Amino acid sequence: MTDVTVEPGSILGVLGGGQLGAMFAAAARRLGYRIAVWDQDPDAPAHRQSDHSFTAAFSDLPTRKHFSSLVQAVTFEWENVPSDLCEWLEERHRVRPSSAVLRIIQDRVDQKQCLQSHHLPVVPFVAIGAPDQLMDAVKRIGIPSLCKTATSGYDGKGQWPIRQNSDVDEVARTLRTSERSASRWILEQLVAFERELSVLVVRGANGECRTYPVVENRHERGILRMTLAPAPVSVQVTARASDLARQAVDVLKGVGVFCVELFHTADDRLLINEIAPRPHNSGHYTLDACTVSQFEQQVRAVCGAPLGEVRQWSPAAMVNLIGAEMQAVTSGQAFKDLLSLPGAVLHLYGKTVVRAGRKMGHVTFLGETREAAAEPAHRLLARLAALSAVPPA
Ligand code: AMP
Repeated sequence: MTDVTVEPGSILGVLGGGQLGAMFAAAARRLGYRIAVWDQDPDAPAHRQSDHSFTAAFSDLPTRKHFSSLVQAVTFEWENVPSDLCEWLEERHRVRPSSAVLRIIQDRVDQKQCLQSHHLPVVPFVAIGAPDQLMDAVKRIGIPSLCKTATSGYDGKGQWPIRQNSDVDEVARTLRTSERSASRWILEQLVAFERELSVLVVRGANGECRTYPVVENRHERGILRMTLAPAPVSVQVTARASDLARQAVDVLKGVGVFCVELFHTADDRLLINEIAPRPHNSGHYTLDACTVSQFEQQVRAVCGAPLGEVRQWSPAAMVNLIGAEMQAVTSGQAFKDLLSLPGAVLHLYGKTVVRAGRKMGHVTFLGETREAAAEPAHRLLARLAALSAVPPA
């Protein structure tokens, strides 16, 4: 299939204006595109990278029309944008990934069922249609397990662990009170994984796929804390993980950049946790350590341009700066100390409002070996841990 190329000079629309949208916009502008950003939050970082900014609600019809009249192609920077808006835009423009792919991914149950129907390994799960079904689901999946909202969850939000029988009633109560914002949940087995891995897959409209190196992710309280690239796993695990990731994006027929998150268990199984239909926090290292970053790949895939090389030319370790940590390490002597860490490349997202758990920036450490990249990253992590141990004044 020949793919018409949207050429530099065109306006690309991005739904959502967080740091992922900002980094997409920066990559697109470097390639000569102009950008229209749509995010209700006027402080969203991507607005500062945009030629056209929209801050109305996504449901606002005049804004839909105005946005649509400007752009030549559309993408989104996170999966919780309304799929009906993508569908509406799709009737007028190229939207990548498509609204159909977005719909499947937006619902954890649909996503897992789709992967399972193609014989891809997923975490054992049961769909829950009403809070009263939780007990039955626990009987089927067992304890420990993890109940999640089927839609709209991110960074560990909308998740409730069930570690003992007495948790079931409490979680069911929580589901009842949250019923207004969610109407479907999923119960997953809580996997005692050895490692969390992820793989970025770039897929073009002609089905061509490129996969970045497999990376290891460490989370704290459901939020990504650190990524090691490449992951310290065997060649065989690397090959299996990339193969699974590519197959998962292939079955979705996704066009764009996708991040496939996997659990690697002690008995050497790989299970798909979830797929993000966009560049991912665990791929931020590609900005500094790869020939072409995940954000430039998103631009290329959306525009139907040739996909870029995914070659990693330096090992890397990425550490997120979360909430108040950002101010603590970017002021006074701490700022100088941070920038003096070997191989440190700092990225701040320019968010003015600091909230607990909010991703404010990240630091990528480059080194000649994975160990050399990881060592200063661990030093930074120790500083961040010491900060959180100090009670606020
Ligand atoms: P998610 O939003 O589903 O990616 O979950 C965020 C993080 O919670 C994951 O990266 C894991 O660290 C953890 N987690 C999610 N689901 C499971 C599971 N079924 N078993 C064990 N840990 C999980």
